[in-house]
Amino acid sequence: MEIFHCYEFLLMKKFQEDSLLWDELKAETWVNLKTFLGAFQDRILKSKVEGNDSVESDTDVSRYKKISADLWFLAVTLEKSPHRLLAFLNSELRQESENVVQIPGQTVLARYLSHYNFVEMHLDSIFKYGETATLPKELFRCRNVRVLSLKYNNLEWIPPDVGRLSCLERLSLTNNRLQNKSIPHTLTFCRRLKELYLDNNLLDALPGFLLGMPQLNTVHRHGNHNYFKATFMWYHTDVNDRVLHVFDEVQKRRKPTNGYNAESLLFLAATALISSNINFFEPGLLPNTLQEYMADIYPRFSICDHCHAAVAYSSSGYRVFTFKNPYLGNTCVPFQHWACSRDCAEAIEIPAHQEQMRAAERMDEEYDHYIQEIQNEDMSVPSRGICSLL
Ligand SMILES: [Zn+2]
Repeated sequence: MEIFHCYEFLLMKKFQEDSLLWDELKAETWVNLKTFLGAFQDRILKSKVEGNDSVESDTDVSRYKKISADLWFLAVTLEKSPHRLLAFLNSELRQESENVVQIPGQTVLARYLSHYNFVEMHLDSIFKYGETATLPKELFRCRNVRVLSLKYNNLEWIPPDVGRLSCLERLSLTNNRLQNKSIPHTLTFCRRLKELYLDNNLLDALPGFLLGMPQLNTVHRHGNHNYFKATFMWYHTDVNDRVLHVFDEVQKRRKPTNGYNAESLLFLAATALISSNINFFEPGLLPNTLQEYMADIYPRFSICDHCHAAVAYSSSGYRVFTFKNPYLGNTCVPFQHWACSRDCAEAIEIPAHQEQMRAAERMDEEYDHYIQEIQNEDMSVPSRGICSLL
């Protein structure tokens, strides 16, 4: 099972950003690295024959201690995944020697990812403090990924491309800076997603579209309590208070993506496709360039949780709060929805409110029944009660 680790990500990112280093390694240090990795390869082959996976020894460690501290991820990659790096480097060198023309714009990271069939990505803490946390799109091209962990990354939003991961079963977004609108509606395209971890973010409720994902069996949202608490002021209210007409100033301030003409046929077709709620990442449905275009313009819309209409962020809409009790083993969880019209907002709020009232009645009945049982038990056991306490 192939796991893509954070140190490999940092190494590829470094190669990508620092083409001089990449060229330098290939030109000079490369020779040494190859010798060094060749030694590793011998040990790996030998250990495989002997059934021993360990490739470490004091001599090996002392060799990569020479690597400078800011390239620690190179040292860790050499220690943990030498065979993978070696195979990739060999393939890169072979392609260069054969003058294979590389796809324009294809990054080192993309080539590394496509070289392997990664099924898990453990990418916790991949951004330094103060660094803009933007997830490269290449990560979402690995269609067989089942587990994606992005904990402790200061992420303020998740790219719509997450919807490409059709095999995704577990997504960990713990300890980031996600707000309700940071999580794209395209997550609903991940129809195998069972576990979602949203602990310690800035959510004041869970995104309403999660309620339309019946395959989810675990949703953790601890550590957002302070924000959830404020939402509970709407618990005892009704549709008149829970539907808020909003003009989203925060999103309005977001710089619009340049280069798209709102009146172009392409833009209108893309808007219609987004509103149709079809998984436009489905392989074979659209050419790659169009899928990329869709993903690029997607953050410019709010998606109605009722009719799925894609409406420009700068337009006004309705924020709707509902409460689900119980939700996946949790008592009373608030949800925040976005609706394109008052009608859509009411179509979300009214049935949810009725369900909330029925759930509250059921809980009251269960509580009464429980109290009755305790009282009956007390009366049938004479040794218990005040007399026995004296
Ligand atoms: Zn609507």
